Amino acid sequence: MSQLTEIISHSPATGAEVGRYPNTSAATIDELVARAAFASHQWRAIGFRGRKIILKAWAHYLAEHIDELSALVALETGKPVSDAALEVSIAIDHLSWAARNAHRFLKNSHRAPGLLMANMSTHVEYQALGVVGVIGPWNYPVFTPMGSIAYALAAGNGVVFKPSEYTPGVGHWLGESFNAIAPQANIFFVATGGPETGAALTKSAVNKIAFTGSSATGKKIAAACAENLTPVLMECGGTDPAIIDRDCDIHQAAEAVLWGAMANAGQTCVGIERVYVHEEIATRFTEIISDMALELVIGHDYGAATMPKQLSVIDAHIKDAASLGAKFLVGSVDSVQPPYVLPTIMVDVPENSLAVAEETFGPTLTIKSVATMGEAINLANASSYGLAASVWSKRNGKAIASQLQCGMVSVNSVLAFTATPTMPFGGVKQSGYGRIHGPEGLREFAYTRAIVATRFNIPLRFTTFKRTPRVDAVIKRFIQTLNR
Ligand code: NAD
Repeated sequence: MSQLTEIISHSPATGAEVGRYPNTSAATIDELVARAAFASHQWRAIGFRGRKIILKAWAHYLAEHIDELSALVALETGKPVSDAALEVSIAIDHLSWAARNAHRFLKNSHRAPGLLMANMSTHVEYQALGVVGVIGPWNYPVFTPMGSIAYALAAGNGVVFKPSEYTPGVGHWLGESFNAIAPQANIFFVATGGPETGAALTKSAVNKIAFTGSSATGKKIAAACAENLTPVLMECGGTDPAIIDRDCDIHQAAEAVLWGAMANAGQTCVGIERVYVHEEIATRFTEIISDMALELVIGHDYGAATMPKQLSVIDAHIKDAASLGAKFLVGSVDSVQPPYVLPTIMVDVPENSLAVAEETFGPTLTIKSVATMGEAINLANASSYGLAASVWSKRNGKAIASQLQCGMVSVNSVLAFTATPTMPFGGVKQSGYGRIHGPEGLREFAYTRAIVATRFNIPLRFTTFKRTPRVDAVIKRFIQTLNR
């Protein structure tokens, strides 16, 4: 079957056509990667300072055009414009941080040579990989890919970005905006298209793939990349828990958890899907959060589901929970009303139900009362995912956070790590591996090179076939003395 030459993006709220974009072929992907590889030499040659000037100019351009970009994000995803503007603002902050800090975390670093090699000078270099292929999702079409694009560019790489087929307009806009400010061509390409275009990128000559999307697609990408041993960064899904201890501020917790679960219509990888609340405050917490949920205005507080096919997943999770005995505090078995999903809060949902065990990606929440925080921690960790979590406790927040099997935890807040450029972002288990953001995110897009150089020669020559028994004896004695 031949590939369609274009993809059409639609407004999820109205179904109206937003735009048509090329469905980039495998041949074009190979060409773009080759051009980016060629141009990346010049990009590296201008050094950290040169890249910082250009990336800061891009950040400035995005900040100046924030309304235009936010309107496009809102149109293609269905989210409220204010949410889109918040997303774009955080993405710009990351871009600016990566531009300013790449030198600090990727400059050559000296290491101690150790006593055996005391005559050597030793240092580590962080070398850009070459070209990074970025494959993005639709839920945060600026913030999410920017976590890879900005950090990869700042580290000295060329980038070929394949945005989601649901948000090609936003991807295209990002590419155009970079080219509007960058004096060099071919450093950052945007290749619109569907899964086949993404698959072509994984098979191309890229030096790394930075993938953000579902765990199911992540596995296919990891398998495709294995053929060439292309390294992959995996930012996949989650079923993030909120743990609510009895000493927390219940109102604050309820307000934040509700937002963490239902903002962006629940289409947030680090959105809260399940709550474990101490039994002493469970009734009160459940009442407060349910009352708050009933006040949400669909179309104002959150919008339509971006991807129509996700509606059937959300519906299946709700119906599965209902069939297993779930009680609805907010919403009902008919919460899915295309293109919207009504806020849905359920209790008495078994831990093995789809709504608890799998990523729902809708404005739904399950709440379970627990006798101890130990029980909450065990239930949180029982998931096959491990992306992020939120913990609410005045005294024990950090202690609980340290026992959770996940990549990020907000204590007495939700999703705070997303807007903190110094903090690494990523998960464990089915949620993926590798990190974007922060120093770790910069180093994710570089490889280390160890350089050990002779400063002066010493009589003890042991990297030679002429090594004498006396040298062997000295080394042995030396090591034995040091390790007494
Ligand atoms: P998806 O997996 O359906 O698609 C993601 C991207 O992969 C798209 O650009 C798609 O075209 C591409 N793709 C699909 N099949 C491919 C293939 N075989 N080879 C190469 N590329 C392919 O995900 P989605 O529905 O766009 O996004 C929602 C998912 O993303 C959710 O699971 C969410 O949790 C996750 N997500 C994770 C993070 C994170 O940072 N961990 C952030 C945002 C979203």
